[in-house]
Amino acid sequence: MQAASTIRKNQISNFSNINYYIELENQYGANNYHPLDVVLTEGKGVWVWDTEGKKYLDCLSAYSALNQGHCHPRILQAMIEQASKITLTSRAFRNNQLGLFYEKLSQISGLSKVLPMNSGAEAVETAIKAIRKWAYTIKGVPKNQAEIIVCSNNFSGRTISLISFSTEAQYQDGFFPLTPGFKVIPYGDAQALADAITPNTAAFLVEPIQGEGGIIVPSDGFLKQAETICRQNNVLLIFDEIQTGLGRTGKMFAFQHEGVKPDGITVGKALSGGFYPISAFVSTDEVMGVFTPGDHGSTFGGNPLAAAIGIAALDVIIEEDLPERAANLGQYFIEKLRLIKSPHVKEVRGKGLLIGVELHESSGGARRFCKALAKLGILAKETRDHVIRFAPPLVINQEEIDWSLERIAEVLLVE
Ligand SMILES: *Cc1c(COP(=O)(O)O)cnc(C)c1O
Repeated sequence: MQAASTIRKNQISNFSNINYYIELENQYGANNYHPLDVVLTEGKGVWVWDTEGKKYLDCLSAYSALNQGHCHPRILQAMIEQASKITLTSRAFRNNQLGLFYEKLSQISGLSKVLPMNSGAEAVETAIKAIRKWAYTIKGVPKNQAEIIVCSNNFSGRTISLISFSTEAQYQDGFFPLTPGFKVIPYGDAQALADAITPNTAAFLVEPIQGEGGIIVPSDGFLKQAETICRQNNVLLIFDEIQTGLGRTGKMFAFQHEGVKPDGITVGKALSGGFYPISAFVSTDEVMGVFTPGDHGSTFGGNPLAAAIGIAALDVIIEEDLPERAANLGQYFIEKLRLIKSPHVKEVRGKGLLIGVELHESSGGARRFCKALAKLGILAKETRDHVIRFAPPLVINQEEIDWSLERIAEVLLVE
């Protein structure tokens, strides 16, 4: 392979800009992603631009981390203002942003306590630590016996403990030994949940809708049934709302579709407004009360820059009515997608603006359709092999949806 410095020298004669950046990434980067070969340089709202100035509608929103759209001016302003004052205090000292962030997240979630982290995976790790300690100190589970029930096809992140309960062989292969203490049941199966519970069960940890699993929506009532079963057995109900939360599915949180009251949720992705990683485990006094100083922490978790950005990110979601936009426009988008009578489409499903178009296996995988969409100016990504995810920023308008529908139809009917 050619050295990047050579590539740089020769780029004008031998390489277009785009190949230069792709080669650089390929030469120096780990090969742990398979991106579409577009090299983005700017983003605004629902639109992004590449090195050649070509414009695309972003239908992935960085896996729903960009519900507020790219470079939202208000969040940008909050970031610049805070960045020029103080960015990092560590939790060894207090700062004047963190409490305000806690208060806002507590108010919108209906849960009383917040523990800030950075990535989504860390928020789920935090939930697992809280669950286990709650099991031993409050529920009275015998030492080291706590079990957490999860669902097949789940996604919670990429740390060793989180992949330990994945059911995707590739996520685990080569990374053993795994963390014990998890029990897997089929997704959406309340009876299986009831059957799996033992006296040592501490929690049921579940995504209200599975995002990475292919936009799998459980049947109506599942979350409510899960709540009842958990209550009857003194088992915590913890929702991973990292992808479904903050307006994406048409409510602030997906659990609100069924009026459920969880014991805790994990939040991340759009909590950042797309600017700066921030995540949190949000829970009750009882569960969060298990933590004492020294039990858990993070150098960057709760820093004032992240907190200020988190506050602005939440303000934008509330003040621009993004959950309601997602509900209305999502319904419109799904209805119109269902009208595209393509032989490739097996099912169109979703809630709000978290939409999956599942293709027949005989159609050869979703990736070639995503490539064709990119040519027409739509960035979407396959999830699992046969599902195209459409999850644009929630600031999208109907005209932009119509624009994308024309192109989606073209690809699904012609490819
Ligand atoms: C993306 C995601 C995570 C992991 O978040 P990272 O920030 O990538 O660590 C966890 N749970 C769900 C449901 C997710 O969609």
